[in-house]
Amino acid sequence: MARTIVVSFVLFVLAGLCEIGGGYLMWQWLREHRSAFVGLVGAVILVLYGVIPTFQPAHFGRVYAAYGGVFVILSTLWGWFLDRHPPDLWDWVGAFICLVGVACIMYMPRGEIRKGVIQGLQNVGFLNSRHAFELKELPKSLIVIGGGYIAMELSQMFQRLGTQVTVLARSGILRDFEPDVANALKMYLEEEGIEIITPVTISEVERDGKEVAVHVEIAGERRTVRGEHLLLTTGRTPNSDGLGLETVGVQTDEKGFLKVDRFMRTTVANIWAAGDVTGGQLATPVGAREGVIAAENMVTNAGQQMDYRAIPRAVFTDPEVGSVGLTEAEAEAQGIDCRCQTLDLSYVPKAAAVRDTRGVVNMVIERESHKILGVHLIAPRGADIIHEAALAVKFGLTIEDLIETIHVYPTMSEAIRMVAQMFIKDVGKLSCCAE
Ligand SMILES: Cc1cc2nc3c(=O)[nH]c(=O)nc-3n(C[C@H](O)[C@H](O)[C@H](O)COP(=O)(O)OP(=O)(O)OC[C@H]3O[C@@H](n4cnc5c(N)ncnc54)[C@H](O)[C@@H]3O)c2cc1C
Repeated sequence: MARTIVVSFVLFVLAGLCEIGGGYLMWQWLREHRSAFVGLVGAVILVLYGVIPTFQPAHFGRVYAAYGGVFVILSTLWGWFLDRHPPDLWDWVGAFICLVGVACIMYMPRGEIRKGVIQGLQNVGFLNSRHAFELKELPKSLIVIGGGYIAMELSQMFQRLGTQVTVLARSGILRDFEPDVANALKMYLEEEGIEIITPVTISEVERDGKEVAVHVEIAGERRTVRGEHLLLTTGRTPNSDGLGLETVGVQTDEKGFLKVDRFMRTTVANIWAAGDVTGGQLATPVGAREGVIAAENMVTNAGQQMDYRAIPRAVFTDPEVGSVGLTEAEAEAQGIDCRCQTLDLSYVPKAAAVRDTRGVVNMVIERESHKILGVHLIAPRGADIIHEAALAVKFGLTIEDLIETIHVYPTMSEAIRMVAQMFIKDVGKLSCCAE
């Protein structure tokens, strides 16, 4: 809204200056060639949209088009009635061409102008994760766009509170997690009544009365999904624009995240950065650790480095997802000869005892050395039990190290030991606590 006001103000001031400054060469030129001026600026905006996908502000083209059109008409009429200077044929031709041009900007589908932007999104109004917690009334229905951890957590929360939730995920849910785990979570959420549509292409979003209508394409078929609110959880962008980073030489990547090395130094020797603004894994304890390393290095020149190999992460759904280290696909992509096992939680005595056997535990090890490379699980209290696996990955423990470590019986943590046992035994035939 503020942007609209500023842009319209600037355009009307320009219009005024064209008339007031009529005696001066520049303004005289503008006055006589106002159509060309508006048309040329429109063309520059179009080129910026087309060539620079992240050109900001995104809404400017439409605002410009609307006010540019008004400006041409008003200033032409103004010239005609006040200056008693009737427009000649070329004035009219220029104005007409200009209006066609601005109409093109207005009606050109946004997706064609800026790649990756959902057409109509700016016009319907949508929630982000913060707004979702500020709603005063529980919506009857909610469309969630995104398949990441925030999408999953909020979808389950709203569904359990009584909202009918539909998730639209472009290419699967929890894409950077182990597929066994992601598929299990999808199944549990669908059992609770959440509709998860993936893979899906979103073609347009529009308001239809009190509802939001999302037009999608699923396997070549068109469908419209309707909901009271639209929640967008497609990722966060760093607020690094406008800080003047480029003037001091601090480089950012194409998304605006600050480039840092393992010492948390930016591309300028005495400037350091930590937390979400540096990209990578966006999580509070990661930012905190990066902050400590940056502070130690800048104050004491300690030469400490960030180690990203064994950072555990979680998704606070029910059951919870926990993950640390490499997935099978990541290990193979790095050329590591690995093996992989997946344990169904129904084998874990504690899960059977509490009658909640929803979950799986997946372990990736190096074939020769038996070193644990990664553990990925979905289980009740999964976020609590992943730390044993984090220690195993961080310190290069083997499956034998885990098997020989006595675990409390019955606990969910036994799942980590049992999946390690699966590499050498059939755990279905073991009595409890057996090695
Ligand atoms: C819905 C949601 C759920 C999450 N859940 C979890 C979770 O369960 N566990 C977890 O570990 N992480 C979670 N995260 C991620 C976590 O919130 C972030 O990783 C963490 O807050 C990053 O800390 P930070 O200090 O780097 O950035 P922030 O917490 O974003 O802090 C940055 C601060 O800088 C300020 N700022 C921005 N621009 C400027 C400027 N130009 N000038 C001055 N100040 C500025 C901001 O106002 C803000 O106060 C979640 C995130 C979301 C969105």
